[in-house]
Amino acid sequence: MTTDLATFAAERGVRYFMISFTDLFGGQRAKLVPAQAIAEMQEDGAGFAGFATWLDMTPAHPDMLAVPDPASVIQLPWKPEVAWVAANPVMEGAEVAQAPRNVLRRLIAEAAGQGMHVKTGVEAEYFLLSPDGSEISDQYDTAAKPCYDQQAVMRRYDVVREICDYMLDLGWEPYQNDHEDANGQFEMNWAFDDALATADKHSFFKFMVKSVAEAHGFRATFMPKPIEGLTGNGCHTHVSVWDAPGDAARTNVFAADPAPGSPTAELGLSDKGRAFLGGIMQHAAAMTAITNPTVNSYKRINAPVTLSGATWAPNTVTWSGNNRTHMVRLPGPGRFELRLPDGAANPYLLQAVIIAAGLDGIATGADPGKRHDIDMYAEGHKVRGAAKLPLNMLDALRAYDRDRTLKEAMGAEFSEAFLKLKHAEWDSFVSHFSRWEKEHTLDI
Ligand SMILES: [Mg+2]
Repeated sequence: MTTDLATFAAERGVRYFMISFTDLFGGQRAKLVPAQAIAEMQEDGAGFAGFATWLDMTPAHPDMLAVPDPASVIQLPWKPEVAWVAANPVMEGAEVAQAPRNVLRRLIAEAAGQGMHVKTGVEAEYFLLSPDGSEISDQYDTAAKPCYDQQAVMRRYDVVREICDYMLDLGWEPYQNDHEDANGQFEMNWAFDDALATADKHSFFKFMVKSVAEAHGFRATFMPKPIEGLTGNGCHTHVSVWDAPGDAARTNVFAADPAPGSPTAELGLSDKGRAFLGGIMQHAAAMTAITNPTVNSYKRINAPVTLSGATWAPNTVTWSGNNRTHMVRLPGPGRFELRLPDGAANPYLLQAVIIAAGLDGIATGADPGKRHDIDMYAEGHKVRGAAKLPLNMLDALRAYDRDRTLKEAMGAEFSEAFLKLKHAEWDSFVSHFSRWEKEHTLDI
């Protein structure tokens, strides 16, 4: 049953709705609409000038309408008179093909057409910094191995508890919170869900964490590598495929009937799951443009050893059993964990590219290759033939551009717009003058 937003407002005392969409760079854009006007907006959408956001439009384009998806509505736990609702961009009656939430919805529908319903969970790590972002908010958080530091997590209990309480109230089923492997870094986990629901929650989680941190006088960041020498912000993603969406799901397709003798059978991954994983492995280099979308992303993957002793990020396209040093880990039957994505990944495109690569793997019966059980950080040099991940954003964009199958699966309009804007961003980066080049070149 479709939620009527005007009724929702009347029943809950909501005065304003944030009609929100996400652009190609992951920015969340919203209009604040009074509840008195929401009935019309639910029908027609809120108007935006697409050029003013990162969607590859010109000032001459007509109005873009963001049509709210009432299934996604969330009353802000920290400001209950406002409700957030994710929207699908539409222009002149047609869905905007390059808009990230539309890209994901199209791929979810494609998978559903094949009887596959992707469920995912994300681990969106973040740092709590000083308000200007220059340092860790807690001056006593200096341990060389700060992961799970109970003293440090309790010094930020008020922030962590508030966010976790909100997730409990929202019915997200959060189940654990911890201090992560970098000083100033935290992780909060909630239950996995259908890919679109996870993408909406992931978007809202970022908004919520930043808002609560601000209210406590801190600044939360999901930047992939905010502090040199410390572990970066990953966004590890757990993936499984089911026979039906939502609560109707009964059978985990990734766990069902692995062929005896199959190299993944002993890890509890079905042949279909194995082929899906094969798609991830084959498209990994190109995927990186989406899962690790910023210049800074490449300081997390391919990084030198951090203060804690491990980066916890991959640098090579390999998979393993329950071993965190590889790009993909199979931690238990019927699912895998992609450890590649970082905190800058667009919540919608992250899910979309996993589905696109996985569906191609199933269509082609892709082989994920040999499983490696070694410590990749210590013995990675012994692996022969495994592809290296792109070393920087330009390499990743080029890998994406070369991968015609993935480009097509993500949508031609999307891929063209994404590559165009990202290349412009790269050009902006390389044309800026850095202190490093002066220090290394001035006296040459
Ligand atoms: Mg973590």
